[in-house]
Amino acid sequence: MARYAGPVCRICRREGGKLFLKGERCFSEKCSYDKREYAPGEHKGARRKLSEYGEQLREKQKLKRTHFLMEKQFKKTYKTCEKMKGITGENLLSLLERRLDNAIYTLGFAPSRKAARLLITHGHFLVRGKKVNIPSYILKPGDDISVIEKTKKSEIINNALESAMRRTRPAYYEIDRDAYKGTIGNIPERDEITSAVNEKLIVELYSK
Ligand code: SF4
Repeated sequence: MARYAGPVCRICRREGGKLFLKGERCFSEKCSYDKREYAPGEHKGARRKLSEYGEQLREKQKLKRTHFLMEKQFKKTYKTCEKMKGITGENLLSLLERRLDNAIYTLGFAPSRKAARLLITHGHFLVRGKKVNIPSYILKPGDDISVIEKTKKSEIINNALESAMRRTRPAYYEIDRDAYKGTIGNIPERDEITSAVNEKLIVELYSK
């Protein structure tokens, strides 16, 4: 199935929550979800009651769409998490947090995960001093992520860094804004991850 190319705010309204897909706008009064919480195509205030399967499916879609993943990529990540030590659902959230595109967004080098992905594929970042252009690259504790020299003057990155100062960042990501460098300190634990997704429902869905 092709990647969704329609209006992203519609996704938030469909999933019934803010997924923060549009950068600065998501934190402003222009957020479409804040203005119209009801699902697209439904009458105001008339969100349908979901079946058990429907709830599990929506939770999976919410996480998948937050990270702009296709079904195949998402399932592959889930399968990797199943083989890891620990609780599969928590491993899934933790692994997605450690993707390079998520790190670039969370550190504030890009206004959204989608923009982060584009910047990475165009080779604007280094991990431990080496260029990495794979958005799904999984960071390890202690990895440092930096912006290449010629990109440090980029308007998109500097604007993103400025607006990121207004939002909270999880403790496992640290940033030195002056050096255009960030670090991941540890593997994110569930209680450190702010995601509102109920990962247990995703595990139930895939266990069927
Ligand atoms: Fe979602 Fe952001 Fe659009 Fe609000 S502005 S509906 S959080 S993508």
